[in-house]
Amino acid sequence: MPELPEVETIRAGLKRMLIGHRICSINVRDKKLFIGDPETIKNQAVIEIARRAKILIIRLERSYLLIHLKMTGQLIFVPNGATEQDMVVGGHPDPAYSFSLPHKHTHVIFELDHGKLYFNDLRKFGWIKVVESAEQIEPHVHTLGPEYNWPEFSLEYFTKKLARKKAITVKQLLLDQTIVAGIGNIYADETLFLSKVHPQTKVNELKPNEIQIIFKNIPTIFNKALKHGGTSSQHYRQADGKMGTYLAVANVYKREGMPCTVCGTPIERIKIAGRSSHFCPSCQKKR
Ligand SMILES: [Zn+2]
Repeated sequence: MPELPEVETIRAGLKRMLIGHRICSINVRDKKLFIGDPETIKNQAVIEIARRAKILIIRLERSYLLIHLKMTGQLIFVPNGATEQDMVVGGHPDPAYSFSLPHKHTHVIFELDHGKLYFNDLRKFGWIKVVESAEQIEPHVHTLGPEYNWPEFSLEYFTKKLARKKAITVKQLLLDQTIVAGIGNIYADETLFLSKVHPQTKVNELKPNEIQIIFKNIPTIFNKALKHGGTSSQHYRQADGKMGTYLAVANVYKREGMPCTVCGTPIERIKIAGRSSHFCPSCQKKR
């Protein structure tokens, strides 16, 4: 699933390509994924593109478009006049994910004055919603914890939140969107490796210096992932169709059986609360 760095990369790409341009028409090919009346956003220009956690918020002149990509959603913009060659990047093995757009997993097409924005989603868990006011965004974001780069996300805040989550594992803690927004499986594993903490460690077993290290490493990992344009282990693509390259520098994610980048011990994978967790059994000692 796209996590914060992936959605932020898409946001930045869309911002670069769409601001000031007008939506001329909308073709909703699967109505289940589009909530609201597509006709209302016609002829509106794109004013701003924001993000809260993993939700994209496209501000139009009189409406907002909320978009959640969930597991396999993609938003890819193809400018008018772009050839198929321009868009053939990445080479996903599933031919349905070749860039001859639209294809059978394209569910919504926004036609703008300078090109087309395609919403593709293989698993169809993603959604697009039209709302008319900022207040209507609130129900989608009110339970979310702060963003990693907000002043509210302080060591004091983090320590206080941890005190209420003693019984769960640190891996589950990082995935809890009410504590800090936007961490998913990839960056939870990467943060814990960098912090030398085993993912099954219970929150109440963490030493104060470990809490401090994890707190500090969350932005470190996010910033590194942003620099690489996110992780394209499967479906994720940037807004111009390019892959993210974080996987090439990942320490543990999707590296089961491969040598630890620090000590050479093979990386292991276990399930924690139903989620795959990758770690180095030597650098991240179990309590
Ligand atoms: Zn190691």
